[in-house]
Amino acid sequence: MPEIKVLPVELRNKIAAGEVIERPASVVKELIENSIDAGSTDIRVEVLRGGKGLVRVTDNGTGMDREDALFCLHPHATSKLRNEEDLFHITTMGFRGEALPSIASVSKMKIVTGLKDSPSGRLIEVQGGEVTETRDFPAHGTSVEVRDLFFNTPARKKFLKSDGTELYHIIDSVTKEALSHEDIAFRLLTENQETMNLSRASGPRERITQVYGLDFVEGLSEIHAESEGTTMTAFVTKGENYRNSKTHQYIFINRRPVKDQTVSHALYQAYEGILPQARHPVFFLFIDMNPKKIDFNVHPAKREVRFENKDEMHRFVAGRIREALRKERTEYVTSFREIPDRPGFERPFGHNIRQMEPSAPSRYIPPMQPDRHFSEGSALPYQASLPFIYLGDTFIAMAGKGGLTLLDHHAAHERILYEHFLKGIAPASHHLLFPKQVMLSHKEYRIILENTDLLDEMGIEVDDFGHNTLLIRSLPEALKESDMRGILSDVAASLIEGVRPDSSLRETIAARISCHASVRGKEILSSEEVQRLLSDLEKTEHPDQCPHGRPTRLFFSLDDLKKMFKRK
Ligand code: ADP
Ligand code: MG
Repeated sequence: MPEIKVLPVELRNKIAAGEVIERPASVVKELIENSIDAGSTDIRVEVLRGGKGLVRVTDNGTGMDREDALFCLHPHATSKLRNEEDLFHITTMGFRGEALPSIASVSKMKIVTGLKDSPSGRLIEVQGGEVTETRDFPAHGTSVEVRDLFFNTPARKKFLKSDGTELYHIIDSVTKEALSHEDIAFRLLTENQETMNLSRASGPRERITQVYGLDFVEGLSEIHAESEGTTMTAFVTKGENYRNSKTHQYIFINRRPVKDQTVSHALYQAYEGILPQARHPVFFLFIDMNPKKIDFNVHPAKREVRFENKDEMHRFVAGRIREALRKERTEYVTSFREIPDRPGFERPFGHNIRQMEPSAPSRYIPPMQPDRHFSEGSALPYQASLPFIYLGDTFIAMAGKGGLTLLDHHAAHERILYEHFLKGIAPASHHLLFPKQVMLSHKEYRIILENTDLLDEMGIEVDDFGHNTLLIRSLPEALKESDMRGILSDVAASLIEGVRPDSSLRETIAARISCHASVRGKEILSSEEVQRLLSDLEKTEHPDQCPHGRPTRLFFSLDDLKKMFKRK
């Protein structure tokens, strides 16, 4: 019995229509979503030349009968929506009956489909929307093959990017669908090579682990919340596991990947006061809610949604995540307090004073030529006997050179490392006795492998270990304790996003790496370390600014102070 019907005109007009097919990745998304709606438990995606040559999605779902196999190509034909009321509680991924006809009209398509319990199936071939062949063909489930996308619309074809870029978008599409449908097995083959193989998982945690690896998941807090029929399972950055860009931020509502300002704003709000400047949390939010309270019929590609009550959603997400993070931080601080004599941290100001031992030899020799900041009394060097104090856990105040210097030790260290990485004089690279294994998402893995030379120049030697895993063979000393997965993931993000016109790729990568490598806020330096930091900073080309343009140090001369105290 055929299932597909053409939507009545009035209903068609109520649907957010528009061009759903922008690029090969949109084809992948639409075909996968059809397979999901058909109840498949196994979906295979094959692509050639970034999907420009071929996209083929094969599933083990219900399949279509003889008539539907042809009818599904009719514009506005769908088995998922019958009347207007259905539009207000959509439970399927598709509902507009737009995808197959749109794709068929701009490609060479072949559909092979058959009902599970039927002896035969159907094969249909379409070119630029015209059916060129229909015949019986044995099949259970459905396979849709799309070749030469936009072959008849050169203007749109021109907008496609390189095969590599198109492939990243495809990997992104598959990853998003896979993350929100952990009960389905996904396989991705690119150029006939298996690049992703995810077996059916028991829940989102297992699926995230399959995609990103165990150590990535261990850096995330798992939060569950429920309110008036809306449930949220969230995996969000825990501790200091932040990123320099908005990578790995996913929102799924009723298993649909969406972009939504309300929800992401709420998430950032939950991190207010915790999140360091210019850093970003990783998050995977899986929200399930009554379909009547949300409208997916807003954006042609269904990427955006409209909530019946936006404020309520914002409160729910911000409130519950903040609460969970606070609880976790309280536990962290409590455990921290239990560590005896960790200097400085969380004690009232004044107790943090640390004297440099008077006997310590002064290794810091300031430049004799006056510079912008140290113009006054430059003959007066910092002396080993001069005290420095920690203000909070990042700033160091010290007297000398005829005034008061405030140093941001994190920013200073970042500047030093940045210039080292940039000049390829990364502090001697150490061969690791036990190479570190780092698993990345497939997209990150590929782009890192294409750029190993660049990393090599910065003292990071990586090898392919297969299955989205890299082997780190050597590292600069400064990175020995660093979170390598975070670093590689940030580097991959810069390579994918491209660089700003005012900086080179090398500069961008060096800045990203040095940010991870530099001393973290909570570490308190010894007097020797402070002195080494000052002297190394002095040797850099731009000692006054970190690579992100923040100041590393501020100087107040005696004159400045006099003016501030109105003595001058
Ligand atoms: P929509 O998904 O919005 O209904 P599509 O154009 O994507 O519109 O698909 C049209 C119809 O074709 C679907 O409603 C469904 O009945 C049928 N169909 C498409 N793909 C498959 C598939 N993989 N398995 C079974 N049926 C499918
Ligand atoms: Mg569809």
